[in-house]
Amino acid sequence: MTAELIDGKAFSVRVRGLVGAHVARLAAQGIVPGLAVVLVGEDPASEVYVRNKGIQTREAGMNSWEYKLPADTSQEALMAQVAALNADPAVHGILVQLPLPKHLDSEAVINAIDPSKDVDGFHILNVGLLGTGQKAMVPCTPLGCLMMLRDRLGDLSGLNAVVVGRSNIVGKPMAQLLLGESCTVTVAHSRTRDLAEVCRRADILVAAVGRPRMIPGDWIKPGATVIDVGINRISEDGRTRLVGDVDFDSAVQVAGAITPVPGGVGPMTIACLLANTLTACCRAHGLPEPE
Ligand code: NDP
Repeated sequence: MTAELIDGKAFSVRVRGLVGAHVARLAAQGIVPGLAVVLVGEDPASEVYVRNKGIQTREAGMNSWEYKLPADTSQEALMAQVAALNADPAVHGILVQLPLPKHLDSEAVINAIDPSKDVDGFHILNVGLLGTGQKAMVPCTPLGCLMMLRDRLGDLSGLNAVVVGRSNIVGKPMAQLLLGESCTVTVAHSRTRDLAEVCRRADILVAAVGRPRMIPGDWIKPGATVIDVGINRISEDGRTRLVGDVDFDSAVQVAGAITPVPGGVGPMTIACLLANTLTACCRAHGLPEPE
């Protein structure tokens, strides 16, 4: 038996459609949500992400602004750009594309964003709100993972969830969200002992490591739901391809459901960014938030 594929691409089209419909209703009241993305330097992968974000933001009917700053931008200049966007009422969401060049203090920049416009959910206030179960801006990648899990499994309460990876942008917020769903959550990382055994306990396994095909099928509990966040570019058979942190070919024989790479978590991340921008706009105008 092979696992059901969780089609993040199709799911993201649905989410973007719902966001677009809500945006159209707001437009009828003269309100247009707006997202500003700040990119410092010329990292090719970041440029692709920023371009895609801009395209999808406009397709959803929102305003989109891209600020491309040179790689040698000073901390002061970047902080001034963020302050200007904080003060602009047409801007409901601000995203500073990471990673920033090494000479810049990323934490200071992120914590300078108005928390109500922090659509990435990385501001320390939003981190604290999420951790205490209060209404927060939730980081887009884990939010997309949670939406796919809820869609497939319904109530997650009582399930054993294992998150491999403890980064601030994926692993930790993912664990908080799963705890919020009343899962029994284990967060594994590079110092975890007997990772294979830990993974085998998981009804829900989220892999956010950044190591190609690290998790083989025999680490997976039969029937488990596997969310593969990893995006790893490898050279194989003379060509470059993207693979996840899970060894898809062996995992698909054991899991109950699995996200492919590409076409799983990735597309949902941008869809959630649009959803967060819409939410921020509704909150700014005191309007009901999207479901
Ligand atoms: P980080 O490098 O920040 O974190 C990686 C985590 O994996 C760390 O907590 C690290 O542990 C852990 N780890 C590393 N090696 C091992 C190991 N051998 N065994 C167990 N744990 C290990 O990565 P990110 O969280 O930023 O990203 C993870 C992956 O997800 C990457 O492939 C990235 O490209 C992808 N990604 C995909 C997104 C999407 O939209 N689909 C969005 C964001 C990321 P320790 O803390 O001990 O060092």
